[in-house]
Amino acid sequence: MAETKILIATKNEGKVREFAHALSKLGKEVVSLNDFPAFPDIVEDGDTFAANARIKAKAAGDAFGVQVLADDSGLRVKALGGAPGVYSARYAGEGASDSDNNAKLLKELAALDAPAAAEPLNDGTRLLSGAQFVCALALYDPATGSFTEAEGTVDGLIADRPRGDGGFGYDPLFWLPQLNRAMAELSKEEKRQIGHRGHALEQLLQKLSSL
Ligand code: IMP
Repeated sequence: MAETKILIATKNEGKVREFAHALSKLGKEVVSLNDFPAFPDIVEDGDTFAANARIKAKAAGDAFGVQVLADDSGLRVKALGGAPGVYSARYAGEGASDSDNNAKLLKELAALDAPAAAEPLNDGTRLLSGAQFVCALALYDPATGSFTEAEGTVDGLIADRPRGDGGFGYDPLFWLPQLNRAMAELSKEEKRQIGHRGHALEQLLQKLSSL
């Protein structure tokens, strides 16, 4: 694969769009597992985001013989004791859609009937719990068997109704009090600057430049 291309071990189109945007600034073109439909799904059975990122990077790196970047990420919700965590993609079951997962999250929080996490917004939106997005990145080099790793987070609150049509996953429910907007209301560039994936990528690039 040409030096300008980087393989991301994911089939998640939302992640692919974000990496393509962030890495285009470095003159890199993103290729993902969607470009290799015959490549089997990778079993993500790690207990942590970091372990799953390593599993994905190694599986694809060993198969293709090129350096691979993998992202494992998800949402930790305070009132739910950190759930859905590493199960974020399949919170509402195997093959669940983003809207299935968002509906399940609101259902679980409604069932708790816990006190609000902050004052309601002007339009009556209730803020149900503190939450954090986490992104673990692993860059794997099959030539040396080595990993370079980084992690990024962003804190926010879970709103009781969705807003915005950008991003993916839980973004419409993730309220950023410091911006007075939901994650799905940010532009790609704003999300890169404030989000967990952008923060993790910045850290990874810093580590690589000091190697
Ligand atoms: P993974 O592909 O196993 O890492 O699962 C990631 C899941 O976490 C996604 O399917 C989303 O549900 C959630 N997630 C990760 N990053 C984001 C994000 O930036 N916005 C919203 N949801 C996210």
